[in-house]
Amino acid sequence: MTTPEATPRGEAALLGPAEVRTLAAEFDIRPTKQLGQNFVHDGNTVRKIVAVSGVTRDDVVLEVGPGLGSLTLALLDVVERVVAVEIDPKLATRLPTTVAERAPELSGRLDVVLEDAMRVLPSQVPAEPTALVANLPYNVAVPVLLHLFAAFPSLRTALVMVQAEVADRLAASPGGKIYGVPSVKANFFGEVRRAGSVGRHVFWPEPKIESGLVRIDRYPTPPWPIDEEHRRRVFAVVDAAFAQRRKTLRAALATWAGSPAEAERRLVAAGIEPSARGEVLDAADFVRLAAVDPIG
Ligand code: SAM
Repeated sequence: MTTPEATPRGEAALLGPAEVRTLAAEFDIRPTKQLGQNFVHDGNTVRKIVAVSGVTRDDVVLEVGPGLGSLTLALLDVVERVVAVEIDPKLATRLPTTVAERAPELSGRLDVVLEDAMRVLPSQVPAEPTALVANLPYNVAVPVLLHLFAAFPSLRTALVMVQAEVADRLAASPGGKIYGVPSVKANFFGEVRRAGSVGRHVFWPEPKIESGLVRIDRYPTPPWPIDEEHRRRVFAVVDAAFAQRRKTLRAALATWAGSPAEAERRLVAAGIEPSARGEVLDAADFVRLAAVDPIG
């Protein structure tokens, strides 16, 4: 984990409400719900996101969905490099010009990649990112987050803004109603915690929902293998356990294991009570369960 820098360079002129509207009008950008396009027009909010992320001059930041550049400009003030992955060609094309206009001395630190963040791979980006910092498109926030942690082992930490309810789910502990698939899967990669709240008034257009910040710090020494095959095996049993979350694990995992009896055998072998429900298991429990050899 890194600590925030005492004084950011503070060279970029951040985007306020007037600048966001002008940029959008100039390039005929009409925000769409489908792409979760709610642009931040408040300098304090983007500075707060950067500060809470803890990134420093040594970091290469992967930013998903830079949009008009609000957060990008604040990041460029502080970090070594920003690799911005944007799916909207109009926004991706415009971003380097915005940065050149508002922070000319920092524009060499930016790379823009026109790609879907749910598919982007290390081979498509020019530098190994150390941190993910993003105001994520809300409708795909969890799959994007999980894909990036799986595909970019160099990511050490993430600070993302998501729908408040999703932030709560990601950071939930076992036992509660909101604990579920996103909580376990995020916890497979690292420590997850809520890192603040953001109101609706800092966005254009204003969303109907509140937003929350979530921080994920990858385990410095992974407590279990994180290769793709192992991750898939663990995620399959997580999905099965929560697909019928009101059932006992013995029943919920019957299809996954082949039969209720085989589900029970594997649960017992992993030291888990077969009459328990999935919501009481933590990531370590799921890892143990996925590791039990099938019978025969
Ligand atoms: N970062 C900007 C800000 O804070 O003002 C914009 C954030 S807006 C909530 C989400 C951004 O993600 C938009 O620019 C949108 O075009 C982009 N986006 C949506 N889906 C995406 C995807 N699958 N891959 C990459 N970018 C995506």
